[in-house]
Amino acid sequence: MLMVANWKMNMDRDAIVSYLDVLSKEGRWARWCAHGYRLLLAPPYPYLDFLMHELRERELPFWVVAQNMCAHEKGAYTGEVSADMLRDLALNGVILGHSERRRLFGETDAHVAAKTALALSRELVPIVCFGETEEERQSKDYPRVWERQIAPVWKEVQKARASGSETPVYFAYEPVWAIGTGRTAALDDIREVAWNLRESFGHECSSGLLYGGSVNDESLSVLVEKGTVYGFLVGGAFLDPEIVLRSFHLL
Ligand code: PGA
Repeated sequence: MLMVANWKMNMDRDAIVSYLDVLSKEGRWARWCAHGYRLLLAPPYPYLDFLMHELRERELPFWVVAQNMCAHEKGAYTGEVSADMLRDLALNGVILGHSERRRLFGETDAHVAAKTALALSRELVPIVCFGETEEERQSKDYPRVWERQIAPVWKEVQKARASGSETPVYFAYEPVWAIGTGRTAALDDIREVAWNLRESFGHECSSGLLYGGSVNDESLSVLVEKGTVYGFLVGGAFLDPEIVLRSFHLL
């Protein structure tokens, strides 16, 4: 089970040190990892290298993933960060297609698919976000939104598999109406997503399903269901390392 802490545009070096100080006090990380529970930290770009260094120094077995990357390999893309750069820092993976990227920065399904292909080619684990808006939810056709977002990505995954890639891919169901709103999806909603992914794209696609949207240690106790969710993508709540610890105790 993967627990992803998406720090978004928060934290600085001092805050990272204090965060890791709290997590370092817990002695069970190696045991949790051995049982398949893993914490993934997604800091803003400027702190990736610093965080990797701190984790090595403290011998903490967390994975580090980026919050985004460029859809192009290299060149004249001012302000962008490439898959090779993330690879060079020895990162484990990258979050792609977060609804904030789609909504605020104009990312399309095609961009997300291209980024997924590039991530897989560099053995970076893609965590691909998808999910409907409140308005789309009102229409009966909201499963078509998931299909539309995932289909081009899944095509790239199939191509990568055909050329021998074994890098896992995770899909994070993040309904926009649940992000940062305090309203979590119900377990039945997540089961419906898992069923749809399985029907449309097969078992590999649905088996790596993560859920994100107002998750905290209280909602977790209701949402953890083996076989339905493979993990959680947590924003606001996981800015507090005490909540991270409480959540791991619930798993
Ligand atoms: P939230 O964010 O947990 O603060 O709702 C989740 C996300 O956007 O990944």
